[in-house]
Amino acid sequence: MNASGPRLAWTRRRFLALAGATAMAGLLPKSALAGTRRVIVIGAGLSGLAAAGLLESLGHEVLVFEARERIGGRVWSLDTVPGSPEGGANTIGPNYGRTIGTVRRHGLELRAQPRGPGLGLLIDGQAIERDAWAASPLNTLPETLRDATPDRLASVLMGDNPLRTSTQWLEPGMSERDVPAGEFFRAQGLDERALQWIDANNSYGNRLQDTSLLGLYAANAGILRAIAWRQPALETAGGNQRIPEAMAAALKAQVQLGSRVEAIIQRAGGVQVITDSGRRFDADGAICTLPLPAMARLRFEPGLDAGWRGAMARIEYHKVSQLHLLAAEPFWEETGQPASWWTNGPLGRIFTRTRPNAAGHYNMTVWINGDACDPFDAMSEAGAIEAITAELERTLPGARGQVEPAALVRWAPDPDSGGAWALWPPGGIHELTATVRRPHERVFFAGEHTGQAYSGMEAALESAERAVLESLRRLA
Ligand SMILES: Cc1cc2nc3c(=O)[nH]c(=O)nc-3n(C[C@H](O)[C@H](O)[C@H](O)COP(=O)(O)OP(=O)(O)OC[C@H]3O[C@@H](n4cnc5c(N)ncnc54)[C@H](O)[C@@H]3O)c2cc1C
Repeated sequence: MNASGPRLAWTRRRFLALAGATAMAGLLPKSALAGTRRVIVIGAGLSGLAAAGLLESLGHEVLVFEARERIGGRVWSLDTVPGSPEGGANTIGPNYGRTIGTVRRHGLELRAQPRGPGLGLLIDGQAIERDAWAASPLNTLPETLRDATPDRLASVLMGDNPLRTSTQWLEPGMSERDVPAGEFFRAQGLDERALQWIDANNSYGNRLQDTSLLGLYAANAGILRAIAWRQPALETAGGNQRIPEAMAAALKAQVQLGSRVEAIIQRAGGVQVITDSGRRFDADGAICTLPLPAMARLRFEPGLDAGWRGAMARIEYHKVSQLHLLAAEPFWEETGQPASWWTNGPLGRIFTRTRPNAAGHYNMTVWINGDACDPFDAMSEAGAIEAITAELERTLPGARGQVEPAALVRWAPDPDSGGAWALWPPGGIHELTATVRRPHERVFFAGEHTGQAYSGMEAALESAERAVLESLRRLA
């Protein structure tokens, strides 16, 4: 190690019983198991922490650098707000084996998410009963589709999901479905109004014209696989942030918080990582887990190839902005209205936890999607809070005087994330997903965007296993 400043020791822990590590050892050549490699892990989100844990368990030495002053990246429970609402990942699917295993292994508790019976509909500012939608004058859908409520319209039009396995969406044979979703929906007779309904809460594109139909099928297939378990959606008691915190605490290496990596230099036989304090660290290899917008600011020597650079330029991240609120009373109950809402207005969706938090308040989250975030993201924090609260009280008059803003979270303007998750542009899935997994000599890539069979937290953990295997095979 070549470092100036306080000493930072390489650490390793042999044979810690980390599930996955034993299975992984069986997949590695003997040469990869012998000796000790020094690997730098960049980013202390779930993928970086999982990669560091696996490497330590296999007897290697790691250093972990994290730009923020906190662990967890896009897992972020807002502990300054009563109820610790989730600013980042909230739902653990019942089929998320790695995530559930990690939670249990660290002695944390899983619980079912408190959810109301369903989302109310607010279309063009009017509350509409689901049963009344088919006959509503606001419903301009073709006759055969009139029963489909705006929030269900996309999945009704997509019909049977053609994806039979969790990784089939990556196969070249699926490329014919990798087309703009907006054109597909328009071809089925939707007018611009109906297309706007699909766009309003589209989590897989910032706007419909740049959303891949195959991407929608992949997301839908993931949801169907979770539903097939017939078990509730889960969360970690006390907040999902407890997962990365526990993972970091179990590492022998201490995560270096507030250490932003600026450059990765590769010379014969090794890598050198330079942080924003100017310190340099040498290692046999590195695992980079940064979301692509954050990674785009790293300097690579030698530089990334044209394919890699092109992928970074084409892949957008999903815009999500949230206003977290507290309600002293369950005001929705008095009016017989649902607690949570789906709107086609600028606020997107309003999610309410139907169980009060320990302080007796109800946590609510206004969840704004895609390009609808832009005007709020351009405002000052105070301006955005005021504008979103005013729009909420206009949209949901029952909320007037009943809710207190508690925290604003804006993912797209955050330089360490650049958004909530990677979006695949139409026509690019097969090529781009392969490119962002491709090692750059002794640098290997993990992170949600490199997941293959899963999305979200599970993808982050899945990707760590692949990147660790790749690195140890290459560095053997
Ligand atoms: C609003 C929101 C809702 C979500 N909902 C769900 C959900 O319900 N279920 C689900 O499974 N998933 C959900 N996700 C996705 C999930 O949070 C992510 O997929 C997962 O946490 C990503 O982990 P990661 O390790 O790949 O990346 P990250 O968590 O982003 O980790 C990367 C780390 O790198 C750090 N970093 C950045 N730049 C540098 C640098 N130069 N040097 C050093 N460190 C750097 C970052 O600070 C960060 O800590 C959600 C995400 C968001 C934002």
